[in-house]
Amino acid sequence: MEDKQKIIIREVALRDGLQSEKAFVSTENKLALIDALAGAGVKYLETTSFVSARAVPQLRDAAKVMARARRGGIWHEVMVPNLKGARAAADAGADRLIVFVSASEAHNRANVGRSISDSMAELDSIFSLAEQSRTPVAAAIATAFGCPYQGPVPVSDVLAVARQFVMRGADRITLADTTGMANPGQVTETVSHFKEHLPDTALCLHLHNNRGIAMANLYAGYLAGIRIFDTSLGGIGGCPNVPQAAGNLATEDTVFMLESMGVDTGMDLAALIEVARLLEKILARPLPGQVMKSGPLESGG
Ligand code: ZN
Repeated sequence: MEDKQKIIIREVALRDGLQSEKAFVSTENKLALIDALAGAGVKYLETTSFVSARAVPQLRDAAKVMARARRGGIWHEVMVPNLKGARAAADAGADRLIVFVSASEAHNRANVGRSISDSMAELDSIFSLAEQSRTPVAAAIATAFGCPYQGPVPVSDVLAVARQFVMRGADRITLADTTGMANPGQVTETVSHFKEHLPDTALCLHLHNNRGIAMANLYAGYLAGIRIFDTSLGGIGGCPNVPQAAGNLATEDTVFMLESMGVDTGMDLAALIEVARLLEKILARPLPGQVMKSGPLESGG
């Protein structure tokens, strides 16, 4: 058992979080958030996505953010929807590219307007570009625990998609509960299935809280051996193509739970709460995160 082993928390607020915000967050504010997150101990950022400005206007400054973001000690991971985005991200010095596809045909069509096999067909060129620029590639699988259009998604479908990514050289697979359909028992089963069939592949969980049990799902994942999690400052974000999507798990809530259990996250919770409040100020609305309101146990406030 690798109990109490240090875990990796990937901060996705700047990409998954901001992409669904209506008001544009300035490049200056994005850079201020990156600095503050680094100060709180965040080392892995999903910094932006090189996606069309028309599709996601909030991330239209991806190149500027990447050009000016601090580098020391920060690993900038960048989501890329296609070859064009991959080229731009590699040119911008991304530390890792993130490609994605849905395990459900219906969701893939809703999300990116094409079939799973058409999405997969573009992967070869992205992986060879990444190899030339020596940029690692990780892959995310959307609707890995269920699809709002199609219903249940068999774990064999999820594994089949994962194998296609691993075969091409993906160094990590993220299982995303895009619509908050997972339950802890299902997470345990899915993770066990992956550990049995793809034992050498790093696994990450990305959990949405549509039905209020994402933290229980994260804990089930932790018990099943997952040591990499995606979370979002203040709990912002969620998938824009899912009806009434709720947010990601709040980074500071997750850090609070894990640190309370004696698990080392490498983060400074008090500093993280301050960054969540900075984000709340920038977005000018209350954020879903809970610990930023209640405070850590020590503070009494
Ligand atoms: Zn998310």
